[in-house]
Amino acid sequence: MSTLKVENLSKQYGDVTALEDVSFQIEDEFAVLLGESGAGKSTLLRCINGLTDPTEGSISLDDEPITGSQTEIGMIFQQHNLVDGVSAYLNALTGSLNRVSMLKSMLQWQSREDKLRALEALETVGLLDESHQRVSQMSGGQQQRVGIARALVQDPRLLLADEPVASLDPSSAETVMGYLRKAAKEHDVTALVSLHQVNIAAHFGDRFIGLRDGRKLFDVGRDELTPEL
Ligand code: ADP
Ligand code: ADP
Repeated sequence: MSTLKVENLSKQYGDVTALEDVSFQIEDEFAVLLGESGAGKSTLLRCINGLTDPTEGSISLDDEPITGSQTEIGMIFQQHNLVDGVSAYLNALTGSLNRVSMLKSMLQWQSREDKLRALEALETVGLLDESHQRVSQMSGGQQQRVGIARALVQDPRLLLADEPVASLDPSSAETVMGYLRKAAKEHDVTALVSLHQVNIAAHFGDRFIGLRDGRKLFDVGRDELTPEL
């Protein structure tokens, strides 16, 4: 498992301070980034996966500067970015592919090894029986589970998810979070998941990092929240 270290991270968008001097470290954990809308969660995740550059500070994975490459980080978004018209299987399979390889896969030219990895990832998220269904025919929760499978297929060292259950009803949200946690644990991958729902966070997190107005408000482990009897 990997160690993610965020040190003195700040991000300005013009006059807006989205992040201010945020530091934390997560290691072998399923960590939750908690905060209201506007707290800076997306900005922090975007800095980690290289979609935006911080104004100040540094981010490392196992003591090396993070590059944001696909094999390093598996990303799951609030609105899935799947190809609607093809099967769950092809979507999972193409998680790690460029356009050429993707077209080859759609022509069924995949390697046996790639096929097995995609099917294993779909099994992890409980969708093996639905692997041939088109994504457009699936429920929102199932689509998010395909997104998790797609991220897993890349064999990433870090899983990041930005509000992965924000658009789901409470029951589907719990189901998807359960599979996300299972996926991280089974694949021994450190995960950082942003959420605004405290009850869901409390149910699934090992560590809780709270953000407010771009500042870190708290950083506590699950044990620290359990009163001693
Ligand atoms: P969320 O709260 O789910 O992170 P936002 O609505 O804050 O979503 O942001 C959605 C997108 O809009 C992001 O790409 C973010 O960088 C961008 N964004 C958010 N606020 C602003 C803003 N004030 N000006 C320009 N872009 C913004
Ligand atoms: P969250 O994900 O917790 O909702 P964000 O990281 O999206 O928070 O936003 C943090 C702050 O930064 C907000 O005030 C938002 O409006 C602002 N912001 C985010 N993205 C941009 C952007 N691209 N341009 C300008 N302001 C932005």
